[in-house]
Amino acid sequence: MCSDNHASRKDEKLLAFCKEKGIRLFFELSNTSGFLQALDQFNKKYHMAYEKEKRRYKEDLKRMGRKDPHLSLADFLIINSEMWNTWWTPSDRRTAFRRVGVLQNRIDSSEVDRSKFVMPLPPPVDTVPVRRVAESPFRLAKGSVHYWKAKYEAQVELTCEIVDTEVGPKEAGVLGPEIVQRTKSAKCKRITDGHGSVVLSKLLELRVEARQKEEAETVRKFNAAQERAVKKAAASEEVRAQLEAWQACRLVCVCQAEGAEGGCPVAGLVLCPYCDTLKKRACRVGACRAAAQAEAELAAAVEGGSVANEE
Ligand SMILES: [Zn+2]
Ligand SMILES: [Zn+2]
Repeated sequence: MCSDNHASRKDEKLLAFCKEKGIRLFFELSNTSGFLQALDQFNKKYHMAYEKEKRRYKEDLKRMGRKDPHLSLADFLIINSEMWNTWWTPSDRRTAFRRVGVLQNRIDSSEVDRSKFVMPLPPPVDTVPVRRVAESPFRLAKGSVHYWKAKYEAQVELTCEIVDTEVGPKEAGVLGPEIVQRTKSAKCKRITDGHGSVVLSKLLELRVEARQKEEAETVRKFNAAQERAVKKAAASEEVRAQLEAWQACRLVCVCQAEGAEGGCPVAGLVLCPYCDTLKKRACRVGACRAAAQAEAELAAAVEGGSVANEE
């Protein structure tokens, strides 16, 4: 079965179904001009037949007194049922493939109709930009009669000179084909990139593998998040316990009295009043240092003020 390269045709369930039923899928190359797509050539016949039958059907409706111009899904199916057995013949199918150069026994690109092709001109040999406007005359009062006369003569001379110069399509402002290569990265490989035989390209197997990888990645991420949450909870529990111990031993150590080995575990720790964290030395967090300095300055100012008042 031939089909275009739309991602919906590459659904894993659909591929598995086709494999089970022995249907061999074959995709056309995507992003290809219509003249290279046999199915487009063939389906043209369908669209033409459908439009013709639709017109006839609408005439019938009018005659029967139905004014509603909008056709429903039911109408669509009726129109199709009317033309379904007549819109194509086996020879149309062969013609469609012949038009893109696929023949019964060979591939022949000369069968492609090139009458409507616009071939770009070859690039100009000389790529130096051509001067089109003559230079302004030298040492003549700008705007004077002599100035304009000299300028006119220079322009005529230049025009005669460049009239035979070959100009490329780009320079002439004519649109030319621009071939853009999509950067191929394995990471962002699209489903529609592949084409041709599904069986030969093992598309189903690749899709199953990709899905399993994705599922494994989801599980891995979930487990990692769980682990982080457990670690975080344990860390905050540890901090809380340490703070409790510190508060208990703040004035007089109580744990040494209970016989703790290696001395008091919270001795020498200081509590930063700004971030509420126990530290081995004065807190060095930027915001805490700034707050401490501001407080010290305020205290000094108050002290200075009270000294001045006393005087
Ligand atoms: Zn203690
Ligand atoms: Zn702090």
